Amino acid sequence: MRKRIIAGNWKMYKTIGEAKSFVTEVKDRLPETDNVDAVICPPSLYLSELVKLTEGTPLEIGAQTMHDVDEGAFTGEVSPKMLADLNVPYVILGHSERRQYFNETDEAVNRKTLAAFSKGLTPIVCVGESLEEREAGKTVETVAGQVIKAFEGVNAEQAKEAIIAYEPIWAIGTGKTATAQDANEVCGEIRAEIGKLYDDETASAIRIQYGGSVKPGNIGELLSMEHIDGALVGGASLEPESFLEMIGVAA
Ligand code: 13P
Repeated sequence: MRKRIIAGNWKMYKTIGEAKSFVTEVKDRLPETDNVDAVICPPSLYLSELVKLTEGTPLEIGAQTMHDVDEGAFTGEVSPKMLADLNVPYVILGHSERRQYFNETDEAVNRKTLAAFSKGLTPIVCVGESLEEREAGKTVETVAGQVIKAFEGVNAEQAKEAIIAYEPIWAIGTGKTATAQDANEVCGEIRAEIGKLYDDETASAIRIQYGGSVKPGNIGELLSMEHIDGALVGGASLEPESFLEMIGVAA
């Protein structure tokens, strides 16, 4: 009953020419279905052009990050107001690479989440534990803590529209995927936490993606799990064929 969502996080890859040729090829080859949202999150430089290129097609565009205020003296940043003005529907927030390399804190992720909702953007809020935390048995505590902080001040109606991406840090770009059972267990815990913060209705409406070395060969098993509603895909989203194959499995 929850619509699946497969989002490609391109990170800092592709030239504008490569980005446009990917989108031109993929947008007309997506399956006609209401079962899955197909999203590409390119570098922010390309958002404007790719939004125009995908207008009226099933392929949607998302940003990889943003600041939390509408404007100001923040050299290099992109604002929620700017994304909304470009008609960008989604924004990834709190990706572990942002947390690790750009000092993005839970508090900042919370401010950005609130800012996204205030501008009508759908946030894809990323959470996930490090290998150390997993080995110390702290996976659920870590991930639940990130969810609680990110959703402070978010109301139930907004939370129902939000997307959470569970990305164990040790599975990102490493070729190591969490087993479908492990991923499902953590996604189930995240859903239960949303149930505690809000109610059962919100918990069953919110969409939860898994991310970390997802590819055409493992996406089917991941998506067959009760609590996994989609995937946030890095490396395997860069090639049209593998992106389309994953959308095909999800559809
Ligand atoms: P990979 O799919 O390359 O492991 O990256 C996952 C990710 O970080 C998506 O946001």
